[in-house]
Amino acid sequence: MPTESEIINSIRSRLQRASGVVVGVGDDAAVLKPRESKDLLACCDLMVEGVHFRRDWCEPTLIGRKALAINLSDIAAMGGTPRYAMISVAIMAGSPASFVESLFDGIFELADQTGVAVIGGDTSSSPGPLFIDVSVIGDCEVGKAVTRAGARPGDQVFVTGTLGASALGLRLLERGARLKDPGNNQSCEEALLKHLIPSPRLKTGSSIGQAGLATAMIDISDGLSTDLCHLAEESDCGAIIDAGSIPIAQSVLDYITEDPATDPLDLALNGGEEYELLFATDPGNLARISEVGLQTGVRMTRIGEMIERKQLILRFGDEQRPLQVKGYEHLV
Ligand SMILES: [Mg+2]
Repeated sequence: MPTESEIINSIRSRLQRASGVVVGVGDDAAVLKPRESKDLLACCDLMVEGVHFRRDWCEPTLIGRKALAINLSDIAAMGGTPRYAMISVAIMAGSPASFVESLFDGIFELADQTGVAVIGGDTSSSPGPLFIDVSVIGDCEVGKAVTRAGARPGDQVFVTGTLGASALGLRLLERGARLKDPGNNQSCEEALLKHLIPSPRLKTGSSIGQAGLATAMIDISDGLSTDLCHLAEESDCGAIIDAGSIPIAQSVLDYITEDPATDPLDLALNGGEEYELLFATDPGNLARISEVGLQTGVRMTRIGEMIERKQLILRFGDEQRPLQVKGYEHLV
């Protein structure tokens, strides 16, 4: 197992000069120069082996990449741009240096792709599972951060991309499927990719935020039903969702031909770790929302409307049912 100074030296050797970083990794604290007329956004997310991922599911590179990706998704959900990351890891005793290298390969690969500078972190050994805690600092124009709290009755509810594939990928992993297994068909491979290599909607989120197009926004980490519930509660209203308009991932639709017991709507409504954006917008913005979708190459689907009554309703044609909130709840 590498020592802490070996890990830090390895990280320092990969660092690139980044704007705004006056002092980076290696001192007691990083020194950052904030951009003028920006608000700062900060978030962190802890991933624990056995709770959020399993080491036998994929290469360590993908574990590292995802630990950063889920934080970038939170910055996107605020309508901001990620700038800096701090990474803390507690590594299982006896891990080879190559494991730690691969973990950081994944983190640095995504950080480089997204223009994020790694500015610090901490390392420890763990007597049990692997822990990765990533903190990200981003920014947005002053006063333009999009919270969960601004939606109003009559606002239209949109979701980016398609839903259900990440939950399907998780189910397949639990059943023993692995990425790039020669036996995988296309739907299996796509679902595994969506779960293991999420692509946070950075351009879409910041475009929506800068243009002031969303009254409220959240990223779908716990499942559409649960995250819609968060958005509605924080905005002090309810929502009605058209079941038929929910964009279900093609891989999920293809998969049900193999396993008819799978309910595609259930996966799309309640499957977590999608890292798509769910937002409310004034009905006058529909054309501009489509434009952002075209510019950023991301599908935008209107799935419903915010309502005054503090209820979540799922509409099937003329029939309305209460929308059950059954997404991921963290157990403590
Ligand atoms: Mg979030």
